Amino acid sequence: MSFRARLFAFLALTGVLPVALLGWLSFSLHRAEVERTVSRAQVAVAAEAARNVERTVASAVDGLRLSVGALPLAQLSDAELASVLRIPYRQLPAVGAVALLGNDGKLLAPAVYEPDAQKPDAFSDADLQALLRHAPLALAEQAGTALGLPYRGSTGTTRLPVALRLDRVRFLAAEMSLKEIASRLSQLPGTAFLAGQGGVALAGLSELSPDESQLTGAVVASRAPLARLVRRADQSEWLAAAAPVGGMGWAVGVAQPASAAFSGAVRVRDYTIFWAAVALLLTALLGALLARGLSQPVRELSQGVSALAEGRYDQTVQVDTRDELGQLAEGFNQMAREIRRRDEEIRAWNAELQQRVEHRTAELKMAQDQILRTRRLAAIGSLGAGIAHELNNPLTAVAGLISLARKQLGESSPHSDTLKQALEQARRVSKIVGDLRQFAEQERTHGGRRFPLSQPVQSALELYAEELREKRIDVRQELKDGLREAQGDPVQIQQVVAHLVQNAIAAMPEGGELRIGLSDVAGDALKLTVSDSGKGIPTEMRERIFDPFFTTKDGSAGVGLGLSISHSIVEAHHGKLLVDSAPGRGATFTVLLPAAAPAAHLV
Ligand code: ADP
Repeated sequence: MSFRARLFAFLALTGVLPVALLGWLSFSLHRAEVERTVSRAQVAVAAEAARNVERTVASAVDGLRLSVGALPLAQLSDAELASVLRIPYRQLPAVGAVALLGNDGKLLAPAVYEPDAQKPDAFSDADLQALLRHAPLALAEQAGTALGLPYRGSTGTTRLPVALRLDRVRFLAAEMSLKEIASRLSQLPGTAFLAGQGGVALAGLSELSPDESQLTGAVVASRAPLARLVRRADQSEWLAAAAPVGGMGWAVGVAQPASAAFSGAVRVRDYTIFWAAVALLLTALLGALLARGLSQPVRELSQGVSALAEGRYDQTVQVDTRDELGQLAEGFNQMAREIRRRDEEIRAWNAELQQRVEHRTAELKMAQDQILRTRRLAAIGSLGAGIAHELNNPLTAVAGLISLARKQLGESSPHSDTLKQALEQARRVSKIVGDLRQFAEQERTHGGRRFPLSQPVQSALELYAEELREKRIDVRQELKDGLREAQGDPVQIQQVVAHLVQNAIAAMPEGGELRIGLSDVAGDALKLTVSDSGKGIPTEMRERIFDPFFTTKDGSAGVGLGLSISHSIVEAHHGKLLVDSAPGRGATFTVLLPAAAPAAHLV
């Protein structure tokens, strides 16, 4: 979860949640309280209305009984009685029809009622038949007066049948109207209704919803008033209360829409939602402001830390505030600068160290090579010296004998040419043996004489001047003036330079450039370099070129002793002979010799 999200969550928790919680609590409590209060009031109204209904019905029945009781029933014939019955019919407005019946339920005289087609609920002949069917004669026979079950008349009006026992064989059936009850119920606030047994709507409503039927059924069963939320037929929610009407099995219900009943609580809820929305808006605003002031710098800092961790030291943190975060950013930038400086320092040290190590390693390698080469050449040298010593005498004898044979046979002899060639080959072998001896017999000289190193260099170059010109090789000399003198044998040194120049010429058959350099190293040693622009020496061959008889030249061009002899001469002068070359990029031979001074020493 990001810092910004957490900030918003925290603000919402502290800002919005309490408002919403309080609002919800207040709404629930308020609603419960309102429900209790309104229910109590509704129950009271329903109970009062139930009592009114009971009284109205009772007074209507009583009125009928009194009015009929005043008549001299025994003296009147059925026909007279029927006409006399017009009196209670006129006296009692609740009575819609009166009929005289025998105990078999048949009319004894024409019934009294006023069929009026104009009135929508006027009593009709069909209603009379229904009255005869519903009149509770059996009950009236036992109790004297009896109320029948309400029923729907032909016009749909709810009618209540009443039966009165007049004497043993005659009954009075009357139809009581519930109109008065209905009009009184309509005056009550909200909706009031009268329900009969089985949840039948008697007045106030044409039909009851299942919820309402259940409520009135429960009230009738428990004979105690009740209040609860019910759904009307149109699914709207109402707060309804019902009270039983005496022991008649009826109930009066009073209801009002829940929205009206709980309007106060609903207002509390609406206010809550409004203020919760305002709080949310303020939270969002405050959050955005805080996020800008806090999470932005924190993000900058975090990016800076990542950059530092990845080694991007040049990235600075831009926080322009003067608060603690600004100070932290400044501190961070300073730390980053310091780390960068130290990192650069360490890198520089590393590079220098590496350079030094490489340099030292190269030096060590060179020294080791030099030692190995010296040992190898010394070993080969002693072998060569032995062979040369052993060959020298027989070879001299062979050459002498051939010369003698030539002299004895004369120039005209057919063997003269053969003997001449044999003598040439013997001399060639003799030269090789001589060279071998020279290579093997070089000893470290402490003596010799002081001489300027440029002198043997010049002499050697003069020897090859003509050949160099012929092979179109440019010679460049870089001879430094004022160098100290060398110590030893200048003839041998000249021989070394001559070998090197000869090899350089051989390496440049198509011409090229020969550079001769003469300088000093730290004033103690003299450095002579012979560089050519020839074919170069492959790496794997570089060490072997100093071995005696190693050559790549064909035929009699070389026997591979030049560099061996040069190496042993330089060694005898306490110097070093080094080679540096790359194939195709020429070769450079360096001769390092100690300058002629008591302290000059290179080994
Ligand atoms: P040789 O000249 O008789 O062959 P060296 O001992 O003088 O004997 O040389 C040995 C070998 O070293 C040569 O055959 C040649 O292959 C190689 N070499 C010496 N100098 C050079 C050079 N300047 N350029 C290329 N190769 C060289």
